[in-house]
Amino acid sequence: MTKTLLNSVLLFFYCINNVYSTDLPEIDVLLKKMNYQDGTISYHVKSRETIHQFGHYSKPEEYKILLFDTETRYSEGKIFSKVIYEYNGNNFYQYSYTHQQKKIVKKFGSVDVKASSLEDQLVYFSNIYLFLKAIDRNQCCINKKGKDIFSFISNGIEYFFHINKENLVDEIFYYYYDNVYGDSKKSISFSDYRKVKNQLLPFQLEYRENELLLRVSEVEHYSYSDRLENEVLTQLEIKIQNDFVFNQITEDFWQIELPAFNVKTYLYKNYDKLLLFEAPVELSINRKLIRAIKTKFELPIEACFISHHHPDHAGGVLAYVEDDIPIVTTSKNVEYFKKLAKNKHSIGLEKPFIPNGSYDQYLIVKEGKIQQLFGIKCQEIGAKTSHTEEFLIFYLEEEKSVIVADLILFPEEKNLTIGKRGIGLYEAILASKVVVEKIYTNWPLTGQQKFGDYSAFEKAVKQKIEN
Ligand SMILES: [Zn+2]
Repeated sequence: MTKTLLNSVLLFFYCINNVYSTDLPEIDVLLKKMNYQDGTISYHVKSRETIHQFGHYSKPEEYKILLFDTETRYSEGKIFSKVIYEYNGNNFYQYSYTHQQKKIVKKFGSVDVKASSLEDQLVYFSNIYLFLKAIDRNQCCINKKGKDIFSFISNGIEYFFHINKENLVDEIFYYYYDNVYGDSKKSISFSDYRKVKNQLLPFQLEYRENELLLRVSEVEHYSYSDRLENEVLTQLEIKIQNDFVFNQITEDFWQIELPAFNVKTYLYKNYDKLLLFEAPVELSINRKLIRAIKTKFELPIEACFISHHHPDHAGGVLAYVEDDIPIVTTSKNVEYFKKLAKNKHSIGLEKPFIPNGSYDQYLIVKEGKIQQLFGIKCQEIGAKTSHTEEFLIFYLEEEKSVIVADLILFPEEKNLTIGKRGIGLYEAILASKVVVEKIYTNWPLTGQQKFGDYSAFEKAVKQKIEN
């Protein structure tokens, strides 16, 4: 059995065992229409690039356009781009791609800005052949978002693509936050499809940021090669991931993994009500989580407990605001959460966020205090954490456990390292007088033990203090 065939078979079994919909006829049509065939293809692109230089001009949004030619080659699993120099008497730019696909941008020859990994991925996706390959290999992980719009998650980022009336991909895009412009969009659009060895491939590519045309590329030629581009494909692979993995720890206690975001959250069953610990990352994944919990347990969520305001712990708080689920937090977070609830949240969402009005659903644990809320002992230890000014940890007394978010790591393979956060945590647990045997963390998911052993933690802290 060839490796590809084996992958398809495994993928098939994976699909029927999971909640993902395989009912995506458009994807088959798309692959058939483009006559996608598994193989290897390299390409050579010549581009005319337009750089819009926003910034230090006489009035806001004024820009100058720079035009220059670039050259990109994709071959033997690596993307090479010519280093480009441009000087217009005012600004100096240098763009280059290393063979590890790191984009380096230098402006004025002084400030170095390293592009994030998602920009690197758009570089990959500029080769539509690689994109089709990723789609083909990961069909079960593709979500239908609208009539002609689909998405998949890769490295925690949701990428969307649009299929036009001819059943060809005409745009790949993602949304991101720009700290000046707010909700923003980056895209590559594809046109001028022609047949190359029976396969339809686009010869014109346009790169846009917030609909502003930045670069127009024309493909000089595509060529097939027999060599495998494993290195690139491993990077490109849309990881086959469940949205949630429920691990039952005890009769009333579950750990819920969110593999796409490298975080975990916890669920505690308190008689006939459910308590959730943390609202990680973003709104839509928490909407899904609420639905998944309600379906699995057929019980209401009584409260959501949030350790601190960082996005990997509180980024999805609006899903609970919207459902009128009480939120346990600290005093300074309330204003922040209310402000988030006033903003417009619509980009990339299946339905926009609509604030629920004046309902005040926040329950505050006061500075330095231990308070019992919904049967859970919550301790505010911000001053001790060296992490955030306010921070909550949560004791599940019956479980002899404490949930501590990101105050300590319990790596699978390395020894415990104790820093200021660890010592602060230890002092807080001692002061609480609660019996603790297990420590549960929320971040990260990979490379970590399921829980930390309290006595090992105590030993490591004591050693650290002695030295
Ligand atoms: Zn944090």
